[in-house]
Amino acid sequence: MALAIITGASQGIGACIAKRLAKDGFDIAINHYPSDSDKVNAEKVAEECQAFGVKSVCFPADVSKYDECEKMVKNIKNEFGSIDVLVNNAGITKDGLLARMSEESYDAVIAVNQKSVFNMTKHVSLVMMKQRSGHIINLASVAGLYGNAGQFNYSASKAAIIGMTKTTAKEFGSRGITCNAVAPGFIKTPMTDKLTDAQRDAMLAQIAMKRYGEVEEIAGVVSFLASSDSSYVTGQVIEISGGLSM
Ligand code: NAP
Repeated sequence: MALAIITGASQGIGACIAKRLAKDGFDIAINHYPSDSDKVNAEKVAEECQAFGVKSVCFPADVSKYDECEKMVKNIKNEFGSIDVLVNNAGITKDGLLARMSEESYDAVIAVNQKSVFNMTKHVSLVMMKQRSGHIINLASVAGLYGNAGQFNYSASKAAIIGMTKTTAKEFGSRGITCNAVAPGFIKTPMTDKLTDAQRDAMLAQIAMKRYGEVEEIAGVVSFLASSDSSYVTGQVIEISGGLSM
């Protein structure tokens, strides 16, 4: 059976993608941050994936750490034999206007959101190249496409992911590996729960569909990009924002 890895899959969009890909018939490797609470949540997601009749195993690792990713990918390959889909989903925010943003906040967001994509893509692509097949899907953001006041660090990391997506597509296209990004707008998750009412209202005013997105609406597009229906789609960024940019 084909195997999909989803990083940061203990909650939010990642957990929903894991369950959707399990429903599609993939075995699921659930990466989670190595904390007790993430472990408990990730194990629950694994059980929900197993309910679709597939194998699902949790792999704790801090994806901002190169060595931890290398070890995790090796363990996943040993456990499942192949790696067919990688979803680089793990992400954090540390918002604030640039004038008040600390170096620590900048470095932390770049390490988790951006370097993790290097760490995971580097190790997984070695496996996919040997297989001569695979789909890599990166979670970008509308902040990476258009910028967002208060998110200098976050928008930098998400813009970088768009460049990494296109480069990965160009480097590995001839090996049968596709790489695409999705750029969500405002999706209801623990990440956006942190925003103030004023920030939410400002965002809503710009959305053509006048509602926030649901995690299932991201997972549906990721499902398409992980399937053979998207076999000739690579290097693309699909915005999922209810018409935020129009
Ligand atoms: P979320 O609910 O905060 O989930 C993110 C997950 O990533 C959490 O489980 C988190 O674990 C995990 N994570 C953080 N650092 C990690 C690390 N170093 N190693 C492994 N896992 C780590 O956020 P979400 O809203 O589902 O977002 C998922 C992705 O979509 C992110 O890349 C985000 O930037 C992107 N996105 C979201 C929205 C939105 O509106 N929600 C919009 C655009 C893009 P902890 O809980 O322990 O930190």
